[in-house]
Amino acid sequence: MFCKSTLNRLLNCLSYARSKQSYATNKSTGIHNLKLAQLQFTRLSQNTVSVKCWKCGIERKNLSDLFCESCHAIQNPHEKENYFKVFNLDVTYDVNQKNLTNSYRKMQSVLHPDKFSNKSDAEKEISAEYSSLVNKAYKTLQTPINRAIHLLLLNNEIISEDNKSDNPEFLMEIMELNEEIDQADSPEKLKSLQEKSNQMLDRCSEEVSKCFEEGNISKAKEAVIRMKYYNTISKRINNLMREMGIVD
Ligand SMILES: [Zn+2]
Repeated sequence: MFCKSTLNRLLNCLSYARSKQSYATNKSTGIHNLKLAQLQFTRLSQNTVSVKCWKCGIERKNLSDLFCESCHAIQNPHEKENYFKVFNLDVTYDVNQKNLTNSYRKMQSVLHPDKFSNKSDAEKEISAEYSSLVNKAYKTLQTPINRAIHLLLLNNEIISEDNKSDNPEFLMEIMELNEEIDQADSPEKLKSLQEKSNQMLDRCSEEVSKCFEEGNISKAKEAVIRMKYYNTISKRINNLMREMGIVD
């Protein structure tokens, strides 16, 4: 029995193997590995994914349902790693914020502790864990940069603190922007720098969206790294403005 996330991981491996193959078509070992992965995937997809209700043991039909069709007990989240799937949304950077918020509110109202006050300890525990997953997933998908980092992760690309830009022109631009912030002597100046930084952030976000749409993950990663720099600058200006009492 394989869960959906295992299948997704294998799919990711497959697309990775395919991209590798285009770089090394005449390396027989690469092709051999790819064939193996394809064979494994075919075997997996022939096995129907079967998930049983933890309480009554019935085989579940609609895995996106939060409750068992038969005994109505709350079920463990079927998707834990893919935050888009937690909300039954398409896995895309350009997420519909309205749909996301609607789905979040709906799920949190269903998972509210009050609804489980008369239920068993197991159901209380599952609903609390589910609710914290929904919160975490919502916070991640709500913010463009965190959504982009999550989407990269789903494509086997990890962004860490160590990921720095190696573009000298860009780094110079960031340095100059930071100097301007150091020298800003009025709220107006800070506000205009904030605007400038937000514009750059928006521009990066558009680039990230385009890269994901084209399936260019390495280019998306570069744009997300630049996004991180502007995000840091934006936070820095916000803190300064807060200290000056300009914003709450
Ligand atoms: Zn059941």
